[in-house]
Formats: sequence, structure tokens, C-alpha cells
Amino acid sequence: MAISFWFDTLPSTPARASLQQELNVDVAIIGAGFTGLWTAYYLKQQAPQLSVAIVEAEQVGFGASGRNGGWLIGGIAGEGKYLARLEPEACRAGYRQLYGIIDEVERVLEREQIDCDLARGGMIYAAARYPEQLKRIQSELRGLHADGHTEEDFRWMDADELSKQMRMHNGYGGIYSPHCAVIQPGKLVRGLADCVERLGVQILENSPVTAVEGTDLRTAQGRLRASILVPATEGFSDSLMGINRYVLPVQSLIIATEPLAPSQWEEIGMERRPAFSDGGRLTTYGHRSADNRLIFGARGGYCFGGKVRHRFSLSDPEFRLREELMRELFPPLQQARVTHGWGGSLGMARNFAPFALFDPATGIASAGGYGGEGVGATNLFGRTLADLILGQESERTRMPWVFTPASHRQALRRWEPEPIRWLTYRTILSLFSWEDRLYRRQSGPSLLKTLAGATCQQLERLIH
Ligand SMILES: Cc1cc2nc3c(=O)[nH]c(=O)nc-3n(C[C@H](O)[C@H](O)[C@H](O)COP(=O)(O)OP(=O)(O)OC[C@H]3O[C@@H](n4cnc5c(N)ncnc54)[C@H](O)[C@@H]3O)c2cc1C
Repeated sequence: MAISFWFDTLPSTPARASLQQELNVDVAIIGAGFTGLWTAYYLKQQAPQLSVAIVEAEQVGFGASGRNGGWLIGGIAGEGKYLARLEPEACRAGYRQLYGIIDEVERVLEREQIDCDLARGGMIYAAARYPEQLKRIQSELRGLHADGHTEEDFRWMDADELSKQMRMHNGYGGIYSPHCAVIQPGKLVRGLADCVERLGVQILENSPVTAVEGTDLRTAQGRLRASILVPATEGFSDSLMGINRYVLPVQSLIIATEPLAPSQWEEIGMERRPAFSDGGRLTTYGHRSADNRLIFGARGGYCFGGKVRHRFSLSDPEFRLREELMRELFPPLQQARVTHGWGGSLGMARNFAPFALFDPATGIASAGGYGGEGVGATNLFGRTLADLILGQESERTRMPWVFTPASHRQALRRWEPEPIRWLTYRTILSLFSWEDRLYRRQSGPSLLKTLAGATCQQLERLIH
């Protein structure tokens, strides 16, 4: 499998031309993932006369955009940090922008005739599997309300209601939100690429950018001169311009089962194809695909030095762990065959929240740091970058996640140097796994469980 299950189900297409010559364009974009493609789309929508080229190291969707878990969230990571401190009116306006992402994506899909199996089943978020998790998750819900979300946006779902939607082992209840849909990301990224090409954008594949000079870039055999440059490399940012000090590559791994029989779905539910995650601190997430497989992702990974990981194979032992977690969460799937396993790198900002940035003086516009919540966010941030580049003030450009270089320098935190990052990652992994193991033991409350919960909570506060 070259990229992911998503691409495996699509017909193969011939590679696009690479950058072999010297070209001049108005806007050069590095990276043909969702950020680059949405930015190109909205630029051409508003200013068809602009010449835009996207230079991609591998192929369209090679990065996280072609590998993710398919949650299209009407929200961004760390949104509360940005919005909760605003006046109530501005705070609501911010959330309206975020909730509106799914409607906007649906409008474009309709207008451009892109089919990506979108289903609007909402999300079952942080479903508790152990009584010890309940208090923390309910307090998380209170935190969401304190940050400005309403009961309509995020509400408690008790065990009874949960079991009507999704039948997981020991489901004690969780948070429900309508602000999420699921998609087939391979179809979306390919559909968008074809669409921007129809609008006149040039996409050059197999063209790793090796150097950036101002707004010009070089590849092994070509050069692109531009007035505006948009680095949209997210989890691959170690390759360019020292962005990796701010956006660190973190891995996530996913498995897919064979298409499940109707009787198996009868047992585990998910008729409306909701996105789901469990209440563990080491995130477990998934959804039911349009072709009736269970898509199941779990836990992160980090390579020493923030290196990007390129190889993932179903035979890796770490996929076995995901399989075990899936069967534990859904016991009726003991015999279900896992047919695919893949992974990818996402970009994590030190404040765990994304940013959009434009510097008219240098002509560089960028967005990233989405964490594991970039599928929807890239649409909003692509629209925002287009507004910024075109010099158009809009409700989007006034959002608190939009920075000038000066405000960005102030707000931005660098990642700690190695080996601190590596040691912190290992400590988090060990402590959170320890907490999980303790909870899994059936015996009632114990001092050790309380101690584990309190220690992990403290650690979470510290790193955020
Ligand atoms: C396994 C996994 C699961 C995820 N699940 C979800 C989810 O369910 N929901 C959600 O909202 N988010 C999820 N995410 C995150 C989401 O996929 C990303 O935030 C989003 O796709 C980022 O898009 P992007 O265009 O910014 O970056 P990418 O899609 O990573 O694109 C960057 C592109 O830049 C190219 N590139 C890098 N360096 C160079 C260079 N030097 N020259 C030229 N090109 C270069 C890369 O090849 C790549 O194609 C997940 C991520 C992963 C990895």
C-alpha cells in the first residue's frame, strides 16, 4: 500500500508533470494537501486572473490529507484558547465560523460535483469506558460550555442513548456534537486537485522543493519565481525554512477492517455513520466507512528529533496493538479481518492550536499546526489565506488565529529542544498507558487509580 486505504480503493492515475524549467507565477504554493489546494481554490474563485502553481514533493494527497481518519470537524484544535477570552458576541461569531466549515465544504462539493462519501452523523466524543473516566469527561463538557459552546453544540449522552447510536464494550456515556461529518479523504483531495486544475492552477508533482529564496523556490531541475509564496507543508515542515521549531511532526496510525456484514453492524450500531472517539487520554477514534468497514485509529507516535516517518506496514507490531484495541472496544469484531494499516505525520504547534499568517512585506503566507483536526480547518484556513493574499478584510481575517509576523512572534512558542521532547513523549505514553491498564482491571475504585488519574491530569495541564 503506497499511501493509505483511501487511495487503494481509487483507480490509479498517471503522475502529473514535474517542475523541469523556470516558471513565473503570481502565487507559488508548496504542498498539494488540503491547505495548498483550498488556498488555490479560493484564490482562483475570487481572482481568476492570478496565475497559481502548486509544487508537490510526491503526489497529490501524499501527506496527511490522503491518510487521515476522515473526520471533517466544524472546529479547530485549541479553539477555546482563542475564543473564550473574547467578548460574548465575538466569541459566538468565532464559533459560527467554525461550525460553518461543514456547510461550506458541502456547498463546494455540490458546486464542483465532487463526491467524497460525506455523511453528517455528528460525533460521539470521548465515550467513557470506565466509571473513573466519567468525572473527567463531564468536567470536559463543562469546560466546553464555559468556553462558549452551547448545549446544542455539545451535550451529554448517557449510556442508554450512547448504546442506541454505537454499541461499544462498557459504554458509560459520552459527549455528542452535531459539528462533525465523515468523508473519504482520498476522494476529496483528488477531487479538489482536479477541480483547481480546471480553474487553471498548475500542479507539479514529484518536485521536492530544495531551497527557498524570498518568494522564489528551487527544485532539483527547476525554479519557480513568484510574488507570493505559501508553504503548506504541515507535518513535513522539517524540510524547509526552519518551520519545524514551531510545527512538529507527530504520527498517527490507522487500520481498516474488511467490509463488515449487516449482522456485525447490527451488533455495534453506527447507522448514521458518526465519528467516534473513546474517553482514554491516548486517543482512539474512528468511523464506519461508506463501504461498511470500520476505520479505526489509535494513539500517536513521535520520532526522536521530530523526524518525519515515511514507512508504515500492516506487519509492524504497532498495528497489532491497534487491532487489539479495536477488538476490545467492539467484541463482536473478534473475527473481523483487518485488511489495511497505514499512518502519516501531522503537524503539532507548541500551543496545540493552528495559525494563519501573512506578511505583506515578505510575501509569505502560511497556515498549519492543526494537530489531528485539520481536515475541516484547512478549508477555513485556505479561505483565510486567500483573503489575506488578496488584501481583503473579512470576518475570517479578523479571527484571533490570524497573525501578523509581529503578533505571531509574540504568540508563538517554540518546541523544547531534544532530548526533552522525546523524554516528555515517553513519559506521557507510559503514564497514560498505566492509567488505562489500571482502569481495565475490573475491581472497584482504588487509591492507585485515583493517583494515576490525578498524575495524568496534572501532566496534561503542564504540557498545555
Ligand atoms: C493518520 C492521520 C489521521 C488524521 N485524522 C484526522 C481526522 O480524522 N480529522 C482531522 O480533522 N484531521 C486529521 N488528521 C490531520 C489532517 O489530516 C491534517 O491536519 C491535514 O490533512 C493537513 O493538510 P495539509 O495540506 O496542511 O498538510 P499535508 O496533507 O500533510 O500536505 C503537505 C504536503 O506538502 C508536501 N511537501 C512537504 N515537503 C515538501 C517539499 N519540500 N517540497 C514540495 N512538497 C512538499 C508533502 O508531500 C505533502 O503532500 C490526521 C492526520 C493523520 C496523519
